[in-house]
Amino acid sequence: MYANIIINITHEKLDKVFQYRIPDSLKEELEVGAEVIVPFGKNSREIHGYVVGFSEKAGYAEDKIKEIFSVAADSMAIEARLVKLAAWMKETYGGTMIQALKTVLPIKRKEREQKKRRLICLLQEEEGQKRLEYYRKKNQKARERLMEVLLEEREVDYSLAIKKLRVTADVIRTLEEQGTLAVESERVYRNPEIRRDRPAEEICYTVQQKEAIRIFSQDYEREQYKTYLIHGITGSGKTEVYIEMIGKAVEKGRQAIVLIPEIALTYQTVMRFYRRFGERVSIMNSRMSAGERYDQMQRAAGGEVDVMIGPRSALFTPFPSLGLIVIDEEHENTYKSEQTPRYHARETAAARAKLEGASLVLGSATPSLESYYRCQSGEYRLLELTRRAGSQPLPSVYTADMRRELARGNRSVFSDILHGKLKDRLEKGEQSMLFLNRRGYAGFISCRACGYVVKCPHCDVSLAAHNNGKLVCHYCGHEEKQIQVCPSCGSSHIGGFKAGTQQIEELVKRDFPGARVLRMDLDTTRKKDGYEKILSAFAREEADILIGTQMIVKGHDFPGVTLVGVLAADMSLYSSDYRAGERTFQLLVQAAGRAGRGRKAGEVVIQTYSPEHYSIQAAARQDYTAFYQEEIAFRKLMGYPPAEHLLAVLMTGKDEIHLETAAGYLKACAERIGVETMDVIGPATPYVSRISDVYRKILYLKCPKYGMLVKVKNYLEQYIQINSGFQTLRIQFDFNPMNIF
Ligand code: ADP
Ligand code: ZN
Ligand code: ZN
Repeated sequence: MYANIIINITHEKLDKVFQYRIPDSLKEELEVGAEVIVPFGKNSREIHGYVVGFSEKAGYAEDKIKEIFSVAADSMAIEARLVKLAAWMKETYGGTMIQALKTVLPIKRKEREQKKRRLICLLQEEEGQKRLEYYRKKNQKARERLMEVLLEEREVDYSLAIKKLRVTADVIRTLEEQGTLAVESERVYRNPEIRRDRPAEEICYTVQQKEAIRIFSQDYEREQYKTYLIHGITGSGKTEVYIEMIGKAVEKGRQAIVLIPEIALTYQTVMRFYRRFGERVSIMNSRMSAGERYDQMQRAAGGEVDVMIGPRSALFTPFPSLGLIVIDEEHENTYKSEQTPRYHARETAAARAKLEGASLVLGSATPSLESYYRCQSGEYRLLELTRRAGSQPLPSVYTADMRRELARGNRSVFSDILHGKLKDRLEKGEQSMLFLNRRGYAGFISCRACGYVVKCPHCDVSLAAHNNGKLVCHYCGHEEKQIQVCPSCGSSHIGGFKAGTQQIEELVKRDFPGARVLRMDLDTTRKKDGYEKILSAFAREEADILIGTQMIVKGHDFPGVTLVGVLAADMSLYSSDYRAGERTFQLLVQAAGRAGRGRKAGEVVIQTYSPEHYSIQAAARQDYTAFYQEEIAFRKLMGYPPAEHLLAVLMTGKDEIHLETAAGYLKACAERIGVETMDVIGPATPYVSRISDVYRKILYLKCPKYGMLVKVKNYLEQYIQINSGFQTLRIQFDFNPMNIF
């Protein structure tokens, strides 16, 4: 038997399986996923690697095969099933196998296990008293103190003895050797603190909740493990449905993973799961210590936990019998990894669920086009919650046409209607949120008089103003000159959109001198806990107005807020990205969902230069279906995902000219493959064309078949490997990227 090993070096040339002989001492224990130390290269230096399989036959000459040194101390083995998942990720997203293996192993090192030690008295009363007398006579004060307590309590906590009784470890050892006491130790887990506040309330599910639960349970009973999309408006009770579905899996002796964007992983959310599943719920987040996270993974692997809640990486929790994965807010960008392998948690969860025979439940108020598209094609089962569970009404939404404001002579950032409503809230002592939509902002040029936006004639996305004074397309590289006059209406009010949260804060303070204002953006949240401090101050109603970027629209309930103002809906609408319309719709619906969470009804004002755009109209009516119909038609027409698939090839290098030449070669290579249905677009220069003297170029490949793009990726990877011209460049693949580069 030979072990097939992936060595721990991220280099494309070494990205293959190496065979090693298994020493007799390891024959019994070596398993797939174990981390081992092996001799490697000419000098047989020690290198770490992971066992990914075994084979009966030698693939090379017998005498060329070296022997494994040992299993790495303190290593964490990767579950065999997760090794399979890693292989799938490498194939699907590119990169090397070792990168994929490290991704499915979020905790790489064993942490020190925490032990609780106790001292147990071994002497009977009479004998003990004699010993105590003896210590007294000898004037051994520390022993005397310890003995007194031991006789009284029979057992003492080790650290208490050291700290409170001021006994040294030496003294304890001596008494242990004498047979006076025994030291017992027990493993304790460092669990994140979750306090149970009140028991779960019995709730009466709505008709729609019941129906969703019934469909899922019926399939589950029949061992039909499928993928479901719960499309439910905010407040429709999705979380209650997840909890019930998890209950079903747990009842069958299986475990569940719940993915939640880190930003929304709040105490309130965790509490709801805790009320139902108690101590058998665990969480993962980036604020926990390595020891805490290690312990939680160990508890999960050991079957002490039924539900793991966490962000993206919690997907790799090594449960013994995973039965369900839930992904809340499945449309969120944070589910896509920005490191190679650039995996999407949604697709990877589907792959893991398939490998392990589990169900997958996705949930969102504004599903991703991808997921909804798959419901239409019958791949996913759609479960709809169209009504709120409680009695709160949805907020009223107003759209302010900023072109008309300008025509009327209002040049301020606030429309008259928003100004009026802000004043009204301040008078009534109610809270408002002002949301500046800067996501994906990349310098588009628009006309403030008529709303005209300069777009790429080939790609139908906005052109971005680059520092060299040109307007550039981020997909195909098309360039044109900066313009001074609007080609549509002749106005000179055409230019970039510039307004930051800080400026907005100043304007609010000028217009409403008495208002208490909080601002949340990258600046004010840089310090530790900055984010939570601002949110909790606002929740305690210590401010009247909260101004912020997209950070403020996620996951937090402020019952005192009755007005939400969206200052520049267009910022995300015209980012130079094919997902701009989708992102805008999602942000607007979520922002609107922030208003009127308490007892009083809420109002929303959306300010825009393009009120006729379907994303804005559909968001104002909170009508997902209308939005989807328009958006999918655009994607189909232009061949953007999910209608077709897009593979971004990001190339970076220090020598600009060399990079350009190499990009040209790679493009030619992709074209030579001759896939008829594939378009090769670019190479283009990203908005950030250089980061610390490293230049960047990007090539896009577009094709209706994902599998075909994977083949092309494999081919390009080979081409890059054998051509020395690529050696000084870094090349990364990104399938269906969430962000433009
Ligand atoms: P979503 O996740 O869809 O936004 P939640 O599950 O958070 O919705 O539910 C919103 C609120 O409604 C929560 O306070 C929840 O406790 C409550 N709720 C959910 N389902 C019901 C129900 N059937 N009856 C009464 N209240 C409910
Ligand atoms: Zn114009
Ligand atoms: Zn273009």
